[in-house]
Amino acid sequence: MPDDLVSELIETAVAAVVGHADELTRLDSAIGDGDHGANMRRGFEAIGAQREMLAGMARGEALRAAGTTLVKTVGGASGPLFGTLFMTTGKALDAGEAPATALAQGVEAVKARGRSDAGAKTLLDVLVPVVATLRASATQPLAEQLRALRQTADDALEATRAMQASRGRASFLGERSRGHLDPGASSARLLVHALCDVLER
Ligand code: ADP
Ligand code: MG
Repeated sequence: MPDDLVSELIETAVAAVVGHADELTRLDSAIGDGDHGANMRRGFEAIGAQREMLAGMARGEALRAAGTTLVKTVGGASGPLFGTLFMTTGKALDAGEAPATALAQGVEAVKARGRSDAGAKTLLDVLVPVVATLRASATQPLAEQLRALRQTADDALEATRAMQASRGRASFLGERSRGHLDPGASSARLLVHALCDVLER
């Protein structure tokens, strides 16, 4: 039987990425090379094309397969990074970890892969606080937890505006990387919202 949660998650995430691809590209044009929207769209459309196959898998396995697809199709820095996030989180789910623990392991793997951490103006500036909020809100009712996650992702993305990039192409700009939102962090925020939207339904 197809997994409706996986199916809905894919549909919602693909719609969010495709619907914001131009905006992601605009952000990357300001402090990178202007391909982030196209990169993410390519990757998520490829995941969308595998929707039926993925919905037939166990959740951890589906996440791992989606991560592999991102690595294969995205190119650019963001493909291996989001791919690693999905693959490692999926592997942890397969191993029986709770979702919050699994996501935390996924984010640690992104840090290792990017030789980076929060504060470098990357997707980690959204992912790290989101994991912290997920942990801190674990005992709250679902609605409150989702509200806190969305708010954290929004605030964390906005906080990248003032940061100076020390990883990725934006770091080549030095001080001039300040004053713009990070494209990868913006994608991470979209994915957090997509997850919250699906869990709310
Ligand atoms: P590229 O930089 O190769 O053109 P993208 O434009 O698709 O790739 O992705 C850029 C995003 O990747 C950045 O906005 C940033 O969030 C993220 N990023 C780049 N390098 C790193 C890194 N070393 N660690 C974490 N995130 C990174
Ligand atoms: Mg780019």
